Amino acid sequence: MKIYNTLTRKKEEFQPLNDNSVKMYACGITVSGEAHIGHAIQAVIFDIIRKYLEKKGYNVTYARNYTDVDDKIIAKANELGIDATELARANIKKTDEDMLRLGVDEATMTLKATEHIKQIIEFVQILIDKNYAYSTEKGDVYFSVEKFKDYGKLSNRTLEDALDGVRVENEENKKSPYDFALWKSAKPNEIFWESPWGKGRPGWHIECSVMNYYNLGEQIDIHGGGRDLIFPHHENEIAQTESLTGKQFAKYWVHNGLVRINGQKMSKSLNNSIYLNDLLNQYDREVIKFALLQTNYRNDINITEGLFENSKKHLLAFYKILKEIEELGFNSNETNKQIDEEFNEAMDDDFNTAKALAKLYGYFKTMQQKLLKKDDTVIKDYNAIRETYRLLGIFTQNSDEFIKNNKLETEIPNEIKELAKQRWQAKQDKNWVESDRLRLLMQQKGYDIKDLKDDYEIFSK
Ligand SMILES: [Zn+2]
Repeated sequence: MKIYNTLTRKKEEFQPLNDNSVKMYACGITVSGEAHIGHAIQAVIFDIIRKYLEKKGYNVTYARNYTDVDDKIIAKANELGIDATELARANIKKTDEDMLRLGVDEATMTLKATEHIKQIIEFVQILIDKNYAYSTEKGDVYFSVEKFKDYGKLSNRTLEDALDGVRVENEENKKSPYDFALWKSAKPNEIFWESPWGKGRPGWHIECSVMNYYNLGEQIDIHGGGRDLIFPHHENEIAQTESLTGKQFAKYWVHNGLVRINGQKMSKSLNNSIYLNDLLNQYDREVIKFALLQTNYRNDINITEGLFENSKKHLLAFYKILKEIEELGFNSNETNKQIDEEFNEAMDDDFNTAKALAKLYGYFKTMQQKLLKKDDTVIKDYNAIRETYRLLGIFTQNSDEFIKNNKLETEIPNEIKELAKQRWQAKQDKNWVESDRLRLLMQQKGYDIKDLKDDYEIFSK
């Protein structure tokens, strides 16, 4: 099995540190708001990596964390006039519910920063004692980047490059601009804990080093996260942990691509965020997973309007074939082993879910042909598909239920299309009264129209 390792920038044969046990950690969510599609993609991918490693016979310990104290959470809590801990707790509960609905299994360990404050203080103190970190008069503690000679090895940056893209904040007492905060002194109205350096709270990067060290040990096999975390977050995790242990922290660094919405970055300012809860209200979780896993995890995923509708269309067609096979009443546990082998082959190549899903089109075409010929070996294909693709979270439902619950957007009737055409013409002729009348007529029949630049779009209300 090969995994792409960001650290070496190549696909490597997977060989765990200890026999067949695998320790895996993935940076989780900063719970300042509800989970969005980017969080969902990351959670789905590492859930699948974990499940596939288990299928290969590895004994996997998988840890995920919640960042439940940070600047954004504090700002949001102040804005709402509630306690930061309370806000984090509520968001964690909601996120857990959404992830469960999406069919993401709970990790072996779910870790929270606020439950590791004692360990964080201990870890930071060791770094100070070893001369890798220093405290300031104000009560901040910084990691001294120049002391860690391997800094930049993950993101392939020199120290000078490292300054680009780093926020410079509250840092008048730093010895060097490269240094980053391990412990932040408390500002007024901020949540704080007592420490040897005064009242304060942990920096973001230290959490993950500490949670790894105290829960998984000095070294882990796989460290994961979104590609946007490579620098500075993961680079800083390496610096902290390796300075403390003197050993290589993670053997394989696995990073998933980012999400784009119609080609644009997803952001609050563009107001184009897709929240997981809304998406789950609109689409079946299998439809969502089928759509997302068609892109290989290392690539960026572009979410377009038709993506989920299209995924639903394909899954519906597949489920209808499954249903036809069920109706033949064959009773057999035999399976077509080739389907499972080809699936493993795709997944052995850096978890290539896109390739595994693409195979389905050929399998279902063959099954359709077998159905026509009343070839009873079709049941072997059916069994193999049900068993194998369960790992990706698809074909896990009763086919009747799936077909009943997933309806495609209905075709627009010709009568409505004609009304829309006439209305468009009236609008071109600047006959506003007629154009309004026709639109009202459409609305009364349950449809409406959206004007685009040189065109229009009909939708059902
Ligand atoms: Zn992290």
